[in-house]
Amino acid sequence: MKDRTLLMIPGPIEFEPAVLQALGAPTTSHVAPEFIEAFGQALERMREVWLCPSGQPFVVAGSGTLAMDMAGANLVEPGERALVLSTGYFGERYAELLARYGAEVTVLRAPLGGTVDLEEVEAALRGGKYKLMTLTHVDTSTGVRVDPRPLGALGQQYGVLTVLDGVCSVAGEELRQEAWGIDLALTASQKAIGVPPGLALLVAGRRALEAWRARKTPVGNYYADWGQWLPIMEAYEARRPSYFGTPPVNLICALNVSLGQILAEGMEVRFARHRRLGAACQAAIAALGLDQVPTDPAHAAVTMSAPYFPQGVTGAELLPKVQAAGAILAGGLHPQIKARYFRIGHMGATKPGDLLATIGALETGLRACGYKFEPGVGVAAAQRVLTEWR
Ligand SMILES: *Cc1c(COP(=O)(O)O)cnc(C)c1O
Repeated sequence: MKDRTLLMIPGPIEFEPAVLQALGAPTTSHVAPEFIEAFGQALERMREVWLCPSGQPFVVAGSGTLAMDMAGANLVEPGERALVLSTGYFGERYAELLARYGAEVTVLRAPLGGTVDLEEVEAALRGGKYKLMTLTHVDTSTGVRVDPRPLGALGQQYGVLTVLDGVCSVAGEELRQEAWGIDLALTASQKAIGVPPGLALLVAGRRALEAWRARKTPVGNYYADWGQWLPIMEAYEARRPSYFGTPPVNLICALNVSLGQILAEGMEVRFARHRRLGAACQAAIAALGLDQVPTDPAHAAVTMSAPYFPQGVTGAELLPKVQAAGAILAGGLHPQIKARYFRIGHMGATKPGDLLATIGALETGLRACGYKFEPGVGVAAAQRVLTEWR
């Protein structure tokens, strides 16, 4: 029997065999023609996946936090003001990060499981002289999705750069970076992009690059400085060899394979598939009688779900039982409710059958913990959404 337990956490996720094969291929030189071609193609494909035809992609070895760091390091100068819209743990991380670069940070905090009111954002921008605003498209600690569209529009209206932390969203949640006026959208390889951990990925729009070029002070981080990386990205895209820091050759080849698969599926089809998976998982959770961290299904993510444990059941008890039944789920992350909820990732290569197997494993675990429900209701609810959804 194939020994495989489904990895259904909000990153890293299950990866496609072709992507893993690229990762295991013999490593070439970083200036070998076939690698230059793969890197150049990956950069071109990022513009299509981000839906940002005139953006500048950056691919740098590191995790999602480095992508956040690159935006902070390049876009703020000491004493400038930044507005952070926080819907959980990663919003708080962005506030801390920007302060490290000398920004004067104001945090607008959503109530737990909720979003920040647009009127509140607009009032802050109107009075504020902000250089930039950050939003977390999907905060992985709450499973809350923020609608980037009106925020991008406000950023354009008030001349404030909009930075989108899309680590749990890009290539899963609908995102149209350029049409929505988002100045920078960033992610990491291991989430919906579908490549093992190790790549920080960002696409900067025209206004973001202009703001960087207009800086009065040098970027206070040698490795993250776009001045180091922009010529490298331009060279690879022009299919010329170049060097600043050795690129993670195999990871970039794997990235190119995954981006090719994402575009072969098509962005619209992919967005719809994720909506369907999200709705199916959340219907199953509701049918099992579990509450969810997002306070309104309208702002629940489609890439992940965040259910509360039922009364009397703990993570230490439930999660190993679910794993033994075939699916690895994640515990809580938000400090306020860490021990009270868990998280299920359903992004990237997740198939309907993977989700049904996961809900089945969850039911097995819940039953083993003594939680009472009608066996099969969760799987049936998910199945109904998966078959009836158009
Ligand atoms: C995972 C995640 C991060 C951090 O990414 P790392 O690769 O773990 O550094 C940042 N923001 C969000 C929304 C995430 O989901």
